[in-house]
Amino acid sequence: MNAPEKREFQAEVSQVLDIVIHSLYTDKDIFVRELVSNASDALEKLRHLQLTGNEVHGPDLSLEIRLTVDEEARTLTLADHGLGMTREELHENLGTIAHSGSKAFLRNLEESARKESALIGQFGVGFYSAFMVADEVTVYSRSWRPEGESLVWTSDGKTGYEIAEADEELERGCRIVLKLREDCADFAKADRVRSIVESYSNFVAFPVMVGEERVNKVEAVWRKKKSEVTDEEYKEFYQFSAKAYDEPRYRMHFNADSPIELNALLFVPAENTELWGMGQMEPGVSLYCKNVLIDDKPAGLLPDWLRFLRGVIDSADIPLNISRESMQDSSLVRKLNRVVTKRFLKFLDGEAKDDPDKYKEFHAKFSRFLKEGVVTDFEHREGLAKLLRFESSLTDPGTLTGFEDYLVRAKDGQDKIYYLSGPDRVSIEAGPYLEALKARGLEVVYFFDTIDEYLLQHLREFEGKTLVSASSSEVELPEDAALETSGEPLAEEAMTALCDFLQTELGEQVEKVAPGKRLVSSPAAVLAPAHGMSAQMRQMLQAMNPGEPLPPQKVELELNPRHGLVHALAAAREADPDLAKLAAAQLLDQALLAAGLLEDRVGLVDRGFRLMEAALKKTAG
Ligand code: ADP
Repeated sequence: MNAPEKREFQAEVSQVLDIVIHSLYTDKDIFVRELVSNASDALEKLRHLQLTGNEVHGPDLSLEIRLTVDEEARTLTLADHGLGMTREELHENLGTIAHSGSKAFLRNLEESARKESALIGQFGVGFYSAFMVADEVTVYSRSWRPEGESLVWTSDGKTGYEIAEADEELERGCRIVLKLREDCADFAKADRVRSIVESYSNFVAFPVMVGEERVNKVEAVWRKKKSEVTDEEYKEFYQFSAKAYDEPRYRMHFNADSPIELNALLFVPAENTELWGMGQMEPGVSLYCKNVLIDDKPAGLLPDWLRFLRGVIDSADIPLNISRESMQDSSLVRKLNRVVTKRFLKFLDGEAKDDPDKYKEFHAKFSRFLKEGVVTDFEHREGLAKLLRFESSLTDPGTLTGFEDYLVRAKDGQDKIYYLSGPDRVSIEAGPYLEALKARGLEVVYFFDTIDEYLLQHLREFEGKTLVSASSSEVELPEDAALETSGEPLAEEAMTALCDFLQTELGEQVEKVAPGKRLVSSPAAVLAPAHGMSAQMRQMLQAMNPGEPLPPQKVELELNPRHGLVHALAAAREADPDLAKLAAAQLLDQALLAAGLLEDRVGLVDRGFRLMEAALKKTAG
């Protein structure tokens, strides 16, 4: 027999152990759930191997989970005839943390004061929870592989672990013995353990035995009728299947016979952990065929932007032996994908209408996924766009609306949806672009999120109406007799001369200078050229390439022929050309500033002082 092999834990594992033992878990009971859930996973995988024709060691062993206690010895033992582990797997699974999300999670945890037990379990640190209650853990393991060894893994959860060959030939699977700490002796009582299993592990798909007694029901909730499942059962099932501790935000349960036979039970979790900087969520909807797990994280089952969903899709039509690789190529899986995604979008649409306040909370946390979908998933773009919510020039601050409602309010014959993007409502409303549309009673959608720029590049229309930026030169506004304007417009000839003068003065910076109809109270505004980059896009580009010059921008400058400043500038052009030149440069810079497009601020301040001086001298003189 070889000598036992001693190893130290990977640094991250020690960190997890430290957290697990000292701070994170306040509710010790949950270690039972973590270990039962691991056993259940191992059994699911074993069953799948068997059903797809693999030779496994000990083919007749029963697929159940057994918990036994020994009060006198102060031990709790959990045993399963699941996959078991080879030597390498023991090192890999019980000595390191591979999952990058867990590492990111740990980093986050250290930095923030957020030590919520609700998070653990989701991050693959489940097994180590055993050390909350035990000062020694022994794992007897024999892999399903024919060449597997009988091994014993032991650790005190402090520095490292040891792997040795077992004294006897082991049966397939894992047997985990917890030598309980003195203050945790309670977990060596059958009643205590039974009640924990009842409350946490009711939905395990294999019998869970505490002593000789079977504790759980073993049933596939997703294949039952809605009327047969209570809210509490749904919640328990969610928490079990998603390895979560929160309340699901939404749940959708449906069965269909055509175009494909399927049962689906899907949940939206309470939180979007991606917003906490925890990295991308992993897809969490498992694929089953008639209650048998095919894959617990199938990559191509649902679109990537639905990775926040948890739950189960079960279809009798899916072949059991479908491989991870062929999943995305399978036309059946694609069909499932399409059917379920459509249903889910319809479901959200219904929720948004039935309970807008609840939907608003969902939107605040999960809208990034919907937007990602608009950008990446052409097939569902329209359905997703319908689900987006935003403020607009007609909503109160903080109140949201959607494109469908926008179109209900739109004017007869209006074939565009107008929008403006900016950091917040105040900056958008202070800009020069809104006034003309507002004056004409046209609603303008506001976009505040940085990723909205990407969104808008892909979302060009909604129900046949083109989306246009109100700051774009594409926007042509009708002359409106009823429009409240004050002052006489500058004579056409003088206006043309002024435009020519500005064009010459401003040279490279402007593509075009022209009188416009959109301005009500501002003297001038720059318009983003139809196919140019928006201010937000330029800022993003700059942030991504610090220090690199941006491509030069050319804007259109629109003048308000009724504005006093425009009249005065036209007069100064002849009376005081130097002052007029100074004012021309300042006019453009201020218009760029208002549009968020001013990148070179040096001239602005100096010119401002010189213009003030000139104005004040006139008054004084
Ligand atoms: P997670 O279950 O989230 O991956 P754990 O720390 O709970 O993280 O377990 C680590 C790994 O150890 C599991 O992914 C699995 O491969 C293995 N493992 C744990 N318990 C068992 C078991 N009873 N049978 C087989 N493998 C197991």
